[in-house]
Amino acid sequence: MSSMYRGKLSTGQQVLVKSLVAKGMSVRAAAKYMNAPYGQVRGYIEWLNSTTPQETPEVAADGPRVLIFDIEYGAMELFGWDPSVDYIGHYMVNRLGYILAWSAKWYREPEIFSGIVTSVESEDRDDKRIVEDLAKLLRTADIVIGHNVVKHDLKKTRGRILLHGLETLPPIRAIDTLTVARRDFGFDYNGMEPLLKLAGLNVPKKIGMDNWIKAMQGDSVALGLLNKYSIEDAQASEDLFEWMKPYVQRLIRMVDGPGWKCPICGSIDLVKRGEQKTQVSTFQRSQCSNCERYSRTKSLKTTRLELQPL
Ligand SMILES: [Zn+2]
Repeated sequence: MSSMYRGKLSTGQQVLVKSLVAKGMSVRAAAKYMNAPYGQVRGYIEWLNSTTPQETPEVAADGPRVLIFDIEYGAMELFGWDPSVDYIGHYMVNRLGYILAWSAKWYREPEIFSGIVTSVESEDRDDKRIVEDLAKLLRTADIVIGHNVVKHDLKKTRGRILLHGLETLPPIRAIDTLTVARRDFGFDYNGMEPLLKLAGLNVPKKIGMDNWIKAMQGDSVALGLLNKYSIEDAQASEDLFEWMKPYVQRLIRMVDGPGWKCPICGSIDLVKRGEQKTQVSTFQRSQCSNCERYSRTKSLKTTRLELQPL
């Protein structure tokens, strides 16, 4: 039996199916839940059952806590005379936006956490309880990952934390897949959906404006749909990151500890790949056989030049 998984499921999908099946869900139900072809999911499970634990790549368990997270933000309620108005002053707003739902998962761990307002909370636009739960998770994270996570999810969440007078968040570093996509790849579209499609990844099924409105009015069925969508979104965020990760130009260190390890995934399976030269210094460059990322040694390979070019 092959030791390499050669199927089409993304790393995120693999983690999800593993956890769903481990929790007792049938392979068919798991495939349906994930909106993935049954054959692919079954193929992965068969491969998984055939491999011994030693064959999984060695990845460090220590290191910064990396949280993938995503919020669903409810729209403002407005007054208006003119449907084509291009700016809405604050005096035209009946009720401001609020967080309807969030979901989060630790990087490469199967469990997905989520929060959703109750019907009453939604009618009252009261997100304090779910924001507090999300803030508790965020306070234990060192790095967050998400699509537009810096300008949207993290920023909105900070605003709600301030508004509710909750304990502030510590400094959190972010890997924003939107920023990364714009900076490094120049695709024609950088939105979550077009990128997921481009990558051939599972696209969370949109719930439609009618269901958004119902959810904001406290409809429990619509809130359930939103919760499901939000959970799929967190998984999709991880899938998207995993897809682009080997090709991203700069990534922050995601592994702690001493020794010769890939700073992104912690694998010790590194191959020396030439030298990395800066303006004045030269470093040993390596490539990780597990995650394909390049890295370089921290200290100089040769002595530093006395002069540097102008
Ligand atoms: Zn690696």
